[in-house]
Parts: sequence; structure tokens; C-alpha cells
Amino acid sequence: MKIIALIVIVIIISCVYYSFRPFIINGDISIVNGKKAKPTEEDSALQRKMMVEQQIAARGVKNRKVLDAMNSVPRHLFVPVGYREGSYFDQPLPIGLGQTISQPYIVALMTEMLDVDKDDIVLEVGTGSGYQAAVLSSIVKELYTIEIVEELGFQASRLLKNLGYDNVKVRISDGGLGWPEKAPFDAIMVTAAAPKIPGPLIKQLKPGGRMVIPVDNNFYSQDLLIVEKDFAGNIKTKKTIPVRFVPLVEEEKIAE
Ligand code: SAH
Repeated sequence: MKIIALIVIVIIISCVYYSFRPFIINGDISIVNGKKAKPTEEDSALQRKMMVEQQIAARGVKNRKVLDAMNSVPRHLFVPVGYREGSYFDQPLPIGLGQTISQPYIVALMTEMLDVDKDDIVLEVGTGSGYQAAVLSSIVKELYTIEIVEELGFQASRLLKNLGYDNVKVRISDGGLGWPEKAPFDAIMVTAAAPKIPGPLIKQLKPGGRMVIPVDNNFYSQDLLIVEKDFAGNIKTKKTIPVRFVPLVEEEKIAE
């Protein structure tokens, strides 16, 4: 009887251990003396590596520059402290003021779709936390990013500067109008849902350039579009996957 009880206890302990093992190994929960400990930079690097392998490369993102950028940018520092434990989970997270930081896979996929290189001058619309800007800036020459919510824009600008992303400039204004003084751009990424492709952005795209933008469909979500401008200035649009972004606010605020 005692033996059976012992076996049952061992089975229960094994089940509990193996249920929590991925979290313990991932570093999402580090248990020290029975208390939850703050993850170290090494824990975060390990979580990032697993994020890239399991959520991004496993879903087909192959571009080495994109995978390296996703591996190097400390996503947890772009996430509000209260949500940091979930920084490397396969999900978007709130960043305050009703806005969100996108799911890691979507950040990687959109970056791969943009097909950018080290000589490119790129515009991002919707700075938010600054995470996508950091990922892009690790690959390209210059990254210009526009945020309409002043508080988010200043916060992201400060963080990007502190982390040494020196090739990024943040502007507080209506991104739908683009950044005419810095145009034309080799590539443009919009990370908020637009009712249609904003005309000024098409205009500010270089011939031979490309834009990635979520545009509203009739199903309460958006189609992620790849928009290409050929050397004659003609526009070709390709629909990719359905996505869900916060809306692009069409309100002009302040400039720089
Ligand atoms: N790229 C961000 C997430 C984008 S969330 C990141 O990596 O964290 C979308 C962002 O677009 C929000 O911060 C929202 O305030 C901003 N936004 C909405 N309308 C905008 C507009 N017209 N111009 C610039 N930014 C806008």
C-alpha cells in the first residue's frame, strides 16, 4: 500500500515538474530559494534565442539579418515593467495609452517583407515602444520613425538613445503625412492600421522601393500589404496575411 502511495506521489511530482519545466528553462520563472528572481541579462538572451528559434525561424522567417536583429534587440526593455515577464512570449503586449507592441513573429515577418539592407533610408509610421524601430535600425543605415502620441514618442526616443541606436530619429506628428524633408525613402513600414494607403507615403517612396502596411479589410481586421513602386513610378500591391493592428489616427498634431 505504502509503495503504491509512494509511486503516486512520484508521478504527481513528475507531472508538476514537467509542466513548469519549459518556463524554468526559458528563464520566465527563475526560482531562487523558493522566491521568484529578477531575470538576468543572460536569462533574457536565452529567452530571445528561444523566441527566434521557436516562434520566428520555425514559422519560416529565413532572412539572416532579420533573425540576428531579433536576437540582439532587448525586447524586454521596450515592454512596461509590469508586463516584462511576458516580453518573449508569442503575443502582443500593452505599452500604455491604449497602444501595443506587436507579437515578435509579426515584427520579424514585416521586417523580412520590407527586404531592407545596410544602405537603406527607411521610414516607420507608429513608433509605439520603439521596438520595431530598434529592429529596423540594426539592419539599415538611417531610420526615421513617427509617433502621434507625444508621451510614447518621447519615451521611445529616450530609450533608443540610451540603448545606443544612434541612427534613429523620432518625430511627433501625423505619420500619414510622412516625413517630406527626409524623403524619398527606400522603404516604409506602417505599424498601425490604415483605412487605405496614405497618398503622401506613396509619394515619399523611392522608385524601386517598397512599403509594408496593414490596410483595413471587411472582416474587422487588416490585410498586410506589400506595396511596390517600380522605376516608372507604377504601384503594385500584394496582399499577404490578415493581421490586427491599432488604428492609424488621422489627426494632425505637432511637428518635431
Ligand atoms: N511599432 C510599434 C507598435 C505600433 S502600435 C512598436 O514596435 O512598439 C501603433 C502605434 O501607432 C501607436 O503607438 C500609435 O499611437 C501610433 N499611431 C497611430 N496613428 C498614428 C499616426 N497617424 N501617426 C503616427 N503614429 C500613429
